[in-house]
This record gives sequence, structure tokens and C-alpha cells, in this order.
Amino acid sequence: MKHMFGCAKINPGKLQKADGILIAAVLAGALFVGLVSHALRLQDPPMTAVIEQDGRELMRLPLKTGQQVRIESRDGGYNVVEIGTDGVRITQADCPDLTCVHQGMIFHTGETIVCLPHRLTVRLEGGTDNGPDAVTG
Ligand SMILES: [Zn+2]
Repeated sequence: MKHMFGCAKINPGKLQKADGILIAAVLAGALFVGLVSHALRLQDPPMTAVIEQDGRELMRLPLKTGQQVRIESRDGGYNVVEIGTDGVRITQADCPDLTCVHQGMIFHTGETIVCLPHRLTVRLEGGTDNGPDAVTG
């Protein structure tokens, strides 16, 4: 590592002081990067959870903390969809395999949770990954 300080004779006391300044600068830089990335994250356009049953769209919900929606299926079953600020998951269901529940949370546009027994899909749309889809129907 090259020293940026041109001074040839550095006594130990001076070196320590310079190191201290360097560490402070690195810490400040890390803090700054953290703040910027946080700000960028907040500026992401909101994603929308699209819930479909039997291939028909039931509802679209913007991501929002703590919202839970119960979807009844035709055969008397149900799925509980939790909409969070970062993603969507199915928290409860009475389907036999519970694959949809075990799939956990999805975070990215284009990801889908499928409950085959109830013919239910939960999909994420919008966000930064692609433009808005053409509205059909
Ligand atoms: Zn299921």
C-alpha cells in the first residue's frame, strides 16, 4: 500500500493521527453509501400483488404492511395472502400439500406463488423490473 502523504519522515505520533482521520473518513463514507442506498430503495416504484383464481383476476393490491386477504375457493377451501411492504406470501391455507405456504415470500416482479389445489396464483407486478403491462379486459 502506497502512502498518500509525501512526507518522508513520519513520526509514530503523526502516523497514528493520520490513521485516525483515515478511519473516520472510511466510516463516514460507509455511512454515506448506506444512506444513499436506503434513499434509492425508498424511491422504487411500488409493486402490486395480483391475485388470480381459475385464471381470472380477483384483485390487485399495492404492497403495504400487514394487510391480509382471505381468498375463498369454490370447493370451500381458503388461502390467506399477506401483503407486506417488501413482498407477498401465503400464510395460511387448507390445501392438502401446503406448497403455497411453504413457498414463502416473493419479493420480485414476475415471481408467482401457486396453489394448485385451489387454482390460485399470487403474482408481483410493477416495480423497477419492467414497465406497466397493457390493461386488458
Ligand atoms: Zn396451497
